[in-house]
Amino acid sequence: MPLVPAKEVIEWAEGEGVAVAAFNFNNYEFLDAICRAAADLKVPVILATSEGGIRYMGIEVIRPMAEALVERYGITAALHLDHGKSFETVLKAIRYGYTSVMIDASDRPYGENVAITKKVVEVAKPLGITVEAELGVLAGVEDEVSAEKSIYTDPEEARAFVEETGVDMLAVAVGTSHGAYKFKGEPRIDVPRIRRIRELTGIPLVLHGASGVYRDYAEKLGMEDARGVPDDILKEAIRAGIRKVNTDTDLRMAFKVGVLEALREYSGIDPRKYLGRGREEVYRMAVRRLKVISLL
Ligand SMILES: [Zn+2]
Repeated sequence: MPLVPAKEVIEWAEGEGVAVAAFNFNNYEFLDAICRAAADLKVPVILATSEGGIRYMGIEVIRPMAEALVERYGITAALHLDHGKSFETVLKAIRYGYTSVMIDASDRPYGENVAITKKVVEVAKPLGITVEAELGVLAGVEDEVSAEKSIYTDPEEARAFVEETGVDMLAVAVGTSHGAYKFKGEPRIDVPRIRRIRELTGIPLVLHGASGVYRDYAEKLGMEDARGVPDDILKEAIRAGIRKVNTDTDLRMAFKVGVLEALREYSGIDPRKYLGRGREEVYRMAVRRLKVISLL
């Protein structure tokens, strides 16, 4: 099974009334764990890398590695660029075989966001590559993407944006933020806003900053103040029209827990002993997330 455009797996999610999980990876261990989890649960998945991930691995190894693992596990998957910040980065991803790209110009004025997104759609669409854009601003830090305050997506503006750009899916700001510290008080997502944006745009919506930041992992890492999106709130958002849910933080936390636990018991130097435990924890977390996101 070759890598498919994200549009195809999102269409599956539309049909099922669920969302597709997009997981970020930065190495072989994460990618293998994610693909195995998707195979075990028999659901499609989106494999994503940020610009930072591309710099870390080198772009030329990403598609071949993803393709080999998708083949190994017999899954349906898209290869997606997360938070492409410039037209050049997006072009590079397309050249290196990505089947889906995000152009994130959400920190620029509306008119500039429209112009650059439109330019990406013009290049990507004829090639059958899916395009995600973002409107509104999420707070928090994710690799190089950071903002202090969030600005919620305006539904009317979203309608105009989608009409003007012809984008396939839209990331919205509805209360979540990037990183492990998403909420100070009670976690809240503006579900009516999701429903309204969905009604007005008619396209699949994407939720960033959606990790669960689960207690059992946070406590093991000394991150007691960390707060994520509770599973039941995430499910509500999916029922309101979210069709792609991004997860990065949860996998990072799981990997670190696995590596730390392995190193506590193992004093040797074989990296497979502790990276392997990290991989196992990433697999378990990916299964946990896929169950929530696929409403299983
Ligand atoms: Zn994001």
